[in-house]
Amino acid sequence: LFSGRVDFLLSAPQLKFLPEPTVPEIAFCGRSNVGKSSLLNALTGRKSIARASVTPGRTQELNYFEIGEPTQIRLVDMPGYGFAKAPVSVVDKWKKLVRSYLRGRQVLARNLVLVDSRHGLKQVDLDMMKMLDEAAVGYRIVLTKTDKIKASYLERVAGEVADEARKHPAAYPELHLTSSEKGMGIDALRVAVVQDALG
Ligand code: GDP
Repeated sequence: LFSGRVDFLLSAPQLKFLPEPTVPEIAFCGRSNVGKSSLLNALTGRKSIARASVTPGRTQELNYFEIGEPTQIRLVDMPGYGFAKAPVSVVDKWKKLVRSYLRGRQVLARNLVLVDSRHGLKQVDLDMMKMLDEAAVGYRIVLTKTDKIKASYLERVAGEVADEARKHPAAYPELHLTSSEKGMGIDALRVAVVQDALG
């Protein structure tokens, strides 16, 4: 499926611009700079599909990508969070958009919460997880950039994140350990995405 058609569809700054809910969606979220664009590119096997569509002024939008011909899955690149100096108004706008998307989107099959393996879970990640728990949207936690740290450190971070995941009703207990750079964990995540979307 991923080796076929993959196209950028649209950027939606508000819910009224979302496409008709006719196709299962898998949404990707994470702190800014977590490696979300790189992961989307690795999963789709495209060099810059995510980056190409995301210009700085569009960071508060939901970016849609379509997979398959006819379209079978839509990947939704959610705006990054945790900007150090984001004004309150921007954060509020983000929360409103994301919360209403999570609560109202019937075709949303799964969320992937990306966490930088060097940093582990931060408060903004926990806030995001809480929002997903409350919206009852199941989510997988994906550790990114695992090539950047030693195996022993990765093991410790993964253990801590897994312990936290077990406390969250909508979180999968198993983590995905990935490196977009080295291609690690990408095939397995692709399988999970297809499974989540198409059952
Ligand atoms: P985004 O802001 O979440 O979309 O993050 P990007 O995908 O743009 O990645 C942020 C930075 O991390 C870039 O400099 C990437 O090259 C780097 N990066 C992303 N994924 C990996 C990875 O798996 N390994 C390494 N070593 N670097 C990565």
